[in-house]
Parts: sequence; C-alpha cells; structure tokens
Amino acid sequence: MGRLIQSRRHFLQASGAGLAAAPWIAGCAAAQSSSIPRKAMGMPWPNWGELPDTPPEVKPGSIGVAVVGLGGYAIGKAMPALSAAERTHVAAVVSGNPEKAAKVAAAYGLPDDAVYSYDTFARIADDDRIEAVYIVLPTGLHADWTEMAFAAGKHVICEKPMALSSAECARMIAASQKAGKKLMIAYRCHFEPVNLTAIDLLRDGAVGTIGALETANNYRFGPATPANDWRLVKALAGGGPLEDYGLYGLQAAMYLTGEEPVSVRASAEQPVGDPRFTEVFATVRAELSFPSGAVAKVETSYDSDPLNRVIVEGTGGVLRMQPANGYSGNTITLERSGITEAISAGDSDLQFERMCAHFADAIRDGTEIRTPGEMGLRDLKLIEAIYRAAASGGTVTL
Ligand code: NAD
Repeated sequence: MGRLIQSRRHFLQASGAGLAAAPWIAGCAAAQSSSIPRKAMGMPWPNWGELPDTPPEVKPGSIGVAVVGLGGYAIGKAMPALSAAERTHVAAVVSGNPEKAAKVAAAYGLPDDAVYSYDTFARIADDDRIEAVYIVLPTGLHADWTEMAFAAGKHVICEKPMALSSAECARMIAASQKAGKKLMIAYRCHFEPVNLTAIDLLRDGAVGTIGALETANNYRFGPATPANDWRLVKALAGGGPLEDYGLYGLQAAMYLTGEEPVSVRASAEQPVGDPRFTEVFATVRAELSFPSGAVAKVETSYDSDPLNRVIVEGTGGVLRMQPANGYSGNTITLERSGITEAISAGDSDLQFERMCAHFADAIRDGTEIRTPGEMGLRDLKLIEAIYRAAASGGTVTL
C-alpha cells in the first residue's frame, strides 16, 4: 500500500508535465531527456520475428499493403499474416533503417522502389501497388501515421492500442471519413477461434448468469529504461501495461459479457526508484461494473510473474481460459457441478490470417469491420476513465 500512496503523490506532483492531447498522461512522472523521442526513426533488428525462406506468392487481385515499422510484431506476425491471407499481400515496407528494410524487402521479394523511408512515405499516394497501410509503429505514432496514410488515399489497419488518447482516436476516425477509406484496429482476439468459442459458450448460458470475471495480463519487464525501450516512454506508450497488455483483459471483459461497463474503480502503481518505471506505471488494477450487475477485476503488470488468464464465474459454473489471449495455444475449461471439461476450440494461430482476411473483405466487398476505429475510441475512453479513477481513488461513472 505504501508504494501505491507514494505513486499517487508522484502522480499529483508531476501534473502539467505531460501531453496536451492526453490529459491523464500529465499525471505520470516527467519525461527524461534521454527517452526515445516521439518521432518515427530507424531501430535495430528486433529481438524476435523470422523472415520467410522464400518470398511468399502474390495472389492475383489481392490487396497490396505497405507495412509501416519493421519491429518484432511486424516481422514476426503482421507480415506473415498478410502473406497467408488469400486477399492480401505485402506490397511495400516503410522503415527508418535502410539495411533492415532492404533485408526484409528481399525476403518478401519486393523491388527496391517498394522500400520507403519515413521521409518518403507520402509518395505512396502515387504508388498503385499499395491499396492499404498496416501501422505497426509504437502507439504514440499511430495517430499521425494513420492520418498520413489516409492523406495518401489508402485504407488503414492500425495495431492496438489505437492511440494514446480518445482525442487522437477521434482524429483518426475523422481522417478515415474524410478520405472515404476503411479504418480497422488490429484486435486479433476477435478473430481467434478459442475466444470466439468462449463468447458463444457464454452467450448460450454455459455458466448461467455471469456474476464475476477476473482477467490477468502480466509479465516482468527485463532491465530496460525509457532510453532504450519505447514501451517505457510515456509519449510513446501512454501509461504502460494497461494500453499494451491489459487492453486484452479489458476487451475480454466486454466481449465475454457482451456489455460495456457503467462505472470503474482503479489503482495504479509506479514504484519510485525503479529505472524501468520512471515514466509509465508498473501495475494497474481496475474493477469494472456492468449494467447486468456483473463485475470484472482487470489486472495488468509489467512487474509480475507471467500470467495470461481469464476466469468467468456464473450461477451455473466457471469458464477458465489460460492462456486466454496468447498468439497460440489458448485454452478453455468449463467447470460445472464438480466436473471439469476441456473444450476444444480450434487453432489460435489462425487469428492473424483471419484478421487480415476480414480487412480485405471489408475493402473488396464493403462488409462491416468487426473492430472499427469506434471500438478503439471506446477503449481509449475506458482507459482514460481508469486512470481518472486511479488518480482520484473514487468511482468514475461512464
Ligand atoms: P518493436 O519495438 O518491436 O518495433 C517497433 C518498430 O517501430 C521499430 O522496430 C521501428 O521499426 C519502428 N519505430 C519507428 N519509430 C520508432 C520509435 N521512435 N521508437 C521505437 N520504434 C520505432 O515493437 P512491436 O512489439 O513490434 O510493437 C509495434 C506495435 O505493434 C505497437 O503498437 C504494439 O502495441 C503492437 N503490437 C501488437 C501485438 C498484438 O498481439 N496485436 C503484439 C505486439 C505488438
């Protein structure tokens, strides 16, 4: 508790030091001059992500996508998914590191003129090979780069979290409307077979009336500082674990209940003296109350043992998912009348490809996007309310 009170003091003393666009961020500790800056810049080869052995086939008539930012997720998941989906392919890369960009482009069979830098990005407007842009940059860059992609006349799929504030999300939605182009937030769990099965089971009353949920999205950040990891920089990552990882728990609480919360209480911890957490929180806990009376406890931490879990308790049983929202191997068990049953629900790995397929269908067939900008905006409003609740110590009504 002492740490928490300390962090609240920290919170109040630092007010005014943050970003004008995101009022709650003003609460975090002041940025250090050595932090990674809030601008697109070249970064070294990421610490995970593999290139294909041979360039993937480009399916005739499929949508050419420019991938912006060549980090772990872009190379490890986004680009393979664009290649695997029937109606998308990687048409260009955008990076500030020419050597890395050349290596990735070669692996994907891209010609030299399909490699853009952050400085030449606007020229994609004249490149008909590119119909859409996948933004895989640090979160603090999502809004600006999404706006630039729409200004170039392209559709956009943007990684989660959508942006750092609801104001930024509103800007992105307005830019999409002005351009008349699609905006999708890459919320992969909406395409993941195990989560979709859990939704169906709960809708069909598998645990009766839902009374309580618990979600945990925790891991322990290794030794790093805002000088060398953007996830610890408030101007790039907001408050930290909640936007990055806890967002999965927030989302699960909403899609598993089928409801949106009406009020929230929360606490946020920022340990003093830990070089990892000079700008972002280490741990955030929120309690969401839903219209039905169900209550969800959402926990997320960058400073706890790894845990990726959802528990849903109802009048007729308990549904557990662990891992709940991983890249692969998510599981469901149902416990009813003292009997525990493992539910087989399909291959979690399919989520990435299915998400890209859904984006392509929306562009080609004009179908509704399941995870539109409005969903990202909703979630940023909720995140802002959680930080307000943590700062005040009271209940925030939504
Ligand atoms: P990363 O650090 O591995 O890569 C970020 C890349 O962005 C860098 O390699 C670089 O190419 C580029 N970049 C441009 N300007 C930068 C700057 N100022 N600081 C740092 N990098 C800069 O990060 P990542 O894990 O690939 O995350 C990128 C995005 O993908 C984030 O929005 C993140 O939330 C999202 N993500 C989503 C999932 C998911 O499961 N959907 C998983 C991981 C990451």
